Amino acid sequence: MSSRYILLDLDETLYPASNGLMDLVRDRIVEYIVLRLGVSVEEAEEYRSRYLREYGVTLGGLRHEHGVDVRDYMEFVHDVPHSDYISPNPELDAMLARLDSVKVIFTNADCSHVRRVLSALGVDLGHFHSIFDYEAAGCYPKPELEAYRRILDHLGADGDECILVEDNLRNLAPARRIFGMRTVLVDADGSRRARGGPEDAADWVIRDILDLERVLEQSRLNSEP
Ligand SMILES: [Mg+2]
Repeated sequence: MSSRYILLDLDETLYPASNGLMDLVRDRIVEYIVLRLGVSVEEAEEYRSRYLREYGVTLGGLRHEHGVDVRDYMEFVHDVPHSDYISPNPELDAMLARLDSVKVIFTNADCSHVRRVLSALGVDLGHFHSIFDYEAAGCYPKPELEAYRRILDHLGADGDECILVEDNLRNLAPARRIFGMRTVLVDADGSRRARGGPEDAADWVIRDILDLERVLEQSRLNSEP
């Protein structure tokens, strides 16, 4: 059975982590905490890593403990020059056009950032059924189970009809174990596995998003009677 639904993470999945865009976003997050909470850079770094650990995303802690506004935060931290960091990837656009499954962007970021990333990649928004972002998920970020429940609900899909493609093992684990999705880890240099997370969370590991088509083909062949 080929998967009816392909759920694609955005950041460091559709473009290589090595381009440095997310380093810049992380700097913006620290800057945001400094400005809004009136703390030092060192304290802001501590908040960032603690909230990331405890809530899955920094914004979780900022919302629950400091009443930070989602849109204010998203706008500030993603206010970066996307096209200076992301190169056009016409092969990705062509590959997505060939994949006949329903494709959805499943991200803890926001729609406006998704649009800017796709535009810098030269990837047509029309390939996607929808963008399922932090707010669409009711502000439940991956890896909270509610985020996966909500995207399945949104699609009217069962977990075993889906493949989740991600650069983060932590987000793949519940998808596979709890919801029965098949999972693909994008890991260019082994750093994602080194970062930790359950080793068995990924059914496949690829170095580049362009290898996805090959994996999908294999999975189709393997599951044919
Ligand atoms: Mg990612």
